[in-house]
Amino acid sequence: METATAYAKSLDPRPPRRVSILGATGSIGRSTLDLIGRDPARFHVVALTGNRNAELLAKQAIKHNAELAVLADPSEYNDLKAALAGTSVEAAAGDEALMEAVTRPVDWTMAAIVGSAGLRPTLEAVRQGTYVALANKECLVSAGDIFMEAVAKSGTQLLPVDSEHSAGFQAIDPNVCSSIERIVLTASGGPFRTWTLEQMAEASPDDALKHPNWSMGPKNTIDSATLMNKGLELIEAYHLFPVEPEQLDVVIHPQSIVHCLVEYSDGSVLAQLSSPDMRTPIAYSLAWPERMWAPTERLDLVKIGSLDFEAPDCERFPALRIAREALESDNGATTVLNAANEIAVDAFLDRRIGLLSICVLVAQTMEEVARAGLTKPKSLDEVLDLDERSRILARSLLTKLA
Ligand code: NAD
Ligand code: MG
Repeated sequence: METATAYAKSLDPRPPRRVSILGATGSIGRSTLDLIGRDPARFHVVALTGNRNAELLAKQAIKHNAELAVLADPSEYNDLKAALAGTSVEAAAGDEALMEAVTRPVDWTMAAIVGSAGLRPTLEAVRQGTYVALANKECLVSAGDIFMEAVAKSGTQLLPVDSEHSAGFQAIDPNVCSSIERIVLTASGGPFRTWTLEQMAEASPDDALKHPNWSMGPKNTIDSATLMNKGLELIEAYHLFPVEPEQLDVVIHPQSIVHCLVEYSDGSVLAQLSSPDMRTPIAYSLAWPERMWAPTERLDLVKIGSLDFEAPDCERFPALRIAREALESDNGATTVLNAANEIAVDAFLDRRIGLLSICVLVAQTMEEVARAGLTKPKSLDEVLDLDERSRILARSLLTKLA
């Protein structure tokens, strides 16, 4: 078997895929490098970026022979330079260096910066017109129309990494898009699925960070605990897939085995299943249009025994309703929602507000911004301006809630 693989490789004339990872030091970034490290001949790492954590970024860059390592926050630049001294890896820091790194020629970019901080660099990656593996869902929530226009203009192949959207991408037959009736995203329900509202009011960041199935960065984990994550994913799905908002649905599925279901007009439902490990959707995007081996637990349906599904409870988890209304209003409300949610999640992690106040703050910010007048942003600058206005307002409302 090994000889057969080696023989097949010796016949493979393709040069290694040139890849860059934005957000290499995070959960998605580390999983991406884990896969690359298992098949190093298939990839050439160009740039790795992180916000801080010079030590980890330098280690990653050295291990994977990267050309360049960039810290967005320049405060640890000297540490990065020192850690890379005597190696062939270039060190750089700051916003401009990050944008320069994105323009280095590659075949494939992983967009895994968290939050709307990822918007500018991810858009720049899209403008390069190659493959962009999109983990950063906040880009589509904050600036979906502008982002998708840039995708269409540049001819970029977007490869969804969010597990539900990777699943949808795999289950959608592009030849019969008009026959899709409904797309259903599944949600685990998070750590508070069975908690009462009274218990949820007392939930601590530690409780919320204990996700039952997935290992993710803190923002995505808190969003999963409030179900805001699924709200953001509804908006993400609207921009990625050829459906209207009313054709998108959410079902709670505590085992996180079925990730998305695509229903066609003849009654067929195509779904993608896998054990809950982000390395499966990341591997799918890394190798696309081929497949690569991933070291994930194989599905044993007999051992799992049964798969459960239930309707989401919008009383305890209003985020889903708020996100759907923002999507349907089509007036820039999703930009406000994303900005306010980022402020609220940080405040909850800092123990300045309780779990239930996250959605209260988001809803209040959306109301206040709408009252002052809200029109749909038509450019990236207008998105960033609305994002900033929403953050300022959310911070001032926060002091009243805290
Ligand atoms: P994380 O917090 O673990 O990592 C975030 C990365 O972004 C880090 O490398 C960090 O250094 C970098 N970063 C943070 N702020 C930055 C800034 N201001 N400028 C530049 N870089 C910055 O997050 P994650 O869990 O890896 O998630 C990354 C993205 O992928 C998020 O948008 C998340 O919603 C999405 N996502 C994650 C998962 C998951 O399983 N982790 C699943 C689906 C989607
Ligand atoms: Mg997801």
